[in-house]
Amino acid sequence: MNNISFEFFPPNTPEGEVKLRAVTQDLMALAPKYFSVTYGAGGSTRDKTLATVKAVADAGNDVAPHLSCVGATKESVRELLHLYRDQGIKRMVALGGDVPSGMVAAGDFRYATDLVSFIREETGDHFALNVAAYPEVHPRAATAKADLAALKLKQTLGADVAVTQFFYNADAYFAFVDAALAEGITMPIIAGVMPLHSYSKVARFAEMCGAEMPRWLNKRMADFGDDSDSVRALGLDVVSAMCERLIAGGAPGIHFYTMNQSALTKEIVTRLRNKP
Ligand SMILES: Cc1cc2nc3c(=O)[nH]c(=O)nc-3n(C[C@H](O)[C@H](O)[C@H](O)COP(=O)(O)OP(=O)(O)OC[C@H]3O[C@@H](n4cnc5c(N)ncnc54)[C@H](O)[C@@H]3O)c2cc1C
Repeated sequence: MNNISFEFFPPNTPEGEVKLRAVTQDLMALAPKYFSVTYGAGGSTRDKTLATVKAVADAGNDVAPHLSCVGATKESVRELLHLYRDQGIKRMVALGGDVPSGMVAAGDFRYATDLVSFIREETGDHFALNVAAYPEVHPRAATAKADLAALKLKQTLGADVAVTQFFYNADAYFAFVDAALAEGITMPIIAGVMPLHSYSKVARFAEMCGAEMPRWLNKRMADFGDDSDSVRALGLDVVSAMCERLIAGGAPGIHFYTMNQSALTKEIVTRLRNKP
């Protein structure tokens, strides 16, 4: 499996920055296609995202900054596009984002489709554009079909690659890829995979973003209680086995949500590469 990529979030503290430098070095040894760096709602991490993108690029990597619609104006996006282009960045991840509770989402863009159009208008084909996709259906989508139509529109407007929300059910991914193809979505759909760093945190996160934790996994993890070695071992086995199935079933690549940690992602990739 050569088409792998790794996602980071911009660290909040100087210690986090130091740690991320070490994590970057560790993961670079796996020769990913690129690293991506998330962007907080309303531009809340703008400067930190920029700094992280620069640090990871300076270490000798291709980097894809994320950009979201929430609170963004044409002017603010234009400025970022030009900054990134001048830094030699060649790929971006264009997202709708989520409006945090209590925030009014004033801005020039409503959907990721608006952002994709604008990036193409402003910078032509300079950036390869990734967009988000949802095998288990985006929580705000009226129907699964409407969600696929939105993904198709992202492709029509200029997206090159879809990267999925994380999931723990390979069948949901395969069914989604088949349905997408039937709708004429021909761009690669990269599987988004979240190693199980902390089961309770991932389960909470899954709840928020509409990803389903399998009941049997919930139950088995609950049985382990505070036995973190067992939680880690089962998490590794489950995610590695799912990745193996994804690759065997034709997934064109895997994007790891690393949570700024390298150990589990490295172990999973190593297992995959050691498979005959
Ligand atoms: C790979 C990946 C990376 C992410 N990185 C970040 C990040 O860095 N920062 C962050 O804040 N969040 C990030 N997210 C989370 C993401 O912002 C949320 O999932 C958000 O709720 C939707 O983003 P989207 O790009 O899918 O939005 P959209 O594509 O705008 O979709 C949002 C909803 O609107 C519908 N829709 C889309 N286009 C249209 C249209 N033209 N007309 C009508 N309906 C439409 C969709 O069906 C969906 O229900 C990421 C998600 C993924 C999968």
